[in-house]
Amino acid sequence: MKAPNCGPYPDFLDLANTLTDEQKLVQSSVRDFVVKEIEPRIQKAWMNEEFPTDLISKLGNLGLLGSNLEGYGLPGMDNISYGIVMQELERCDSGVRSFASVQGALVMYPIHAFGSEAQKQEWLPKLGSGEAVGCFGLTESYGGSDPGAMLTKAEDKGDHWLLNGSKMWITNGNLAQVAVVWAQTGSGIRGFVVPTNSKGFTAKKMEGKLSLRASVTSELYFDNIKLPKDAVLPKSEGLKSALACLTQARYGIAWGAIGAAESCYDEAVNYASDRVTFGRPIGHTQLVQRKLAIMLSRITQAKLLIHRLGALKNEGKLHFAHVSMAKQNNVEMALEISRTCRDILGGNGIMIEYKAMRHMCNLETVYTYEGTNDIHLLIVGAQITGKQAFGA
Ligand SMILES: Cc1cc2nc3c(=O)[nH]c(=O)nc-3n(C[C@H](O)[C@H](O)[C@H](O)COP(=O)(O)OP(=O)(O)OC[C@H]3O[C@@H](n4cnc5c(N)ncnc54)[C@H](O)[C@@H]3O)c2cc1C
Repeated sequence: MKAPNCGPYPDFLDLANTLTDEQKLVQSSVRDFVVKEIEPRIQKAWMNEEFPTDLISKLGNLGLLGSNLEGYGLPGMDNISYGIVMQELERCDSGVRSFASVQGALVMYPIHAFGSEAQKQEWLPKLGSGEAVGCFGLTESYGGSDPGAMLTKAEDKGDHWLLNGSKMWITNGNLAQVAVVWAQTGSGIRGFVVPTNSKGFTAKKMEGKLSLRASVTSELYFDNIKLPKDAVLPKSEGLKSALACLTQARYGIAWGAIGAAESCYDEAVNYASDRVTFGRPIGHTQLVQRKLAIMLSRITQAKLLIHRLGALKNEGKLHFAHVSMAKQNNVEMALEISRTCRDILGGNGIMIEYKAMRHMCNLETVYTYEGTNDIHLLIVGAQITGKQAFGA
């Protein structure tokens, strides 16, 4: 009997055996790319609070932007392959995975799902290749958990739309050539495709984040922006269209969190075998072995959950509550594991030379964005009880 794979890329239940050749190829090629092209630079980028922009075209050339979308020159990968892409990118850094998530799930997906043929032709090839960057403007300063309370509005002026308002916490805002902006209209909330060089559009980088530092986060301001009538996403209908985008992105986050957790687990296992106290490696002590065993157990459970979600998504049977359970469970798991890794590393755990604290700080954002941990528990709670506990 073969011993279970406990690392450095742990696969205790041999899930690799359930992957197709294509999925295995995606995994190995993204791993190679991450190790060679991103890992060596990520600490510096994180410390300098910048996203390494030369990666954008490389991500595009490898088909890692909007990789589960079809047509318009896009790769059309299955949803498990797409998840593996997110996992491997976040193994390096949540900011890198966030870039790809926003571009694919929050900008390309709504154009693909709700856009006109002209919008698709204009933007999808450029966004897929990385020639253009997009951002997704939903959250406003009054509270991200309640996006329906947004104040940004687009008025129908007959021959054009007039967009006014502001957004905050917008990933890629200062890098973007196009923003998908959600605004109140006379017929409910709708999505708009807004080129960022429109007159009246301003993006302001939010400085001083102690989390997700290798990712650009911005405030967006819309001051009497005149948009053509065809700027609206014609098939967007109310807040549910914006939430459908979030379901896509949250699915990728639930995969990505596993990558961050595996990176911390790997670091903790190595450190525990090298670090000697009281004459023996700390990995030989019962307490540290207990911590490592719980880490591997929780990673394995999270993987089982997300692989099942991948199968459901491939079959077109994925419900948003499935995604809420996985986003909440997997991100909480990853955050706990990063903290335990930091603990096992002792004082060294606080240093940037190690990965634990960078992942831990990043995961504080991942725990909160795209629906906070508690909001996802309440979404599952509403499925259980039939009563929605958030909202008036
Ligand atoms: C780095 C970063 C990048 C982001 N990128 C984007 C982006 O690209 N585009 C975008 O649109 N947004 C983005 N966001 C915004 C993100 O989605 C919001 O921060 C998130 O939804 C939470 O909203 P909030 O920060 O306003 O917190 P709030 O909604 O004010 O929540 C504060 C606390 O109250 C709790 N809470 C709120 N309501 C309830 C309730 N009814 N019952 C119980 N508890 C409740 C929450 O769980 C949380 O603990 C980003 C955020 C960050 C930090």
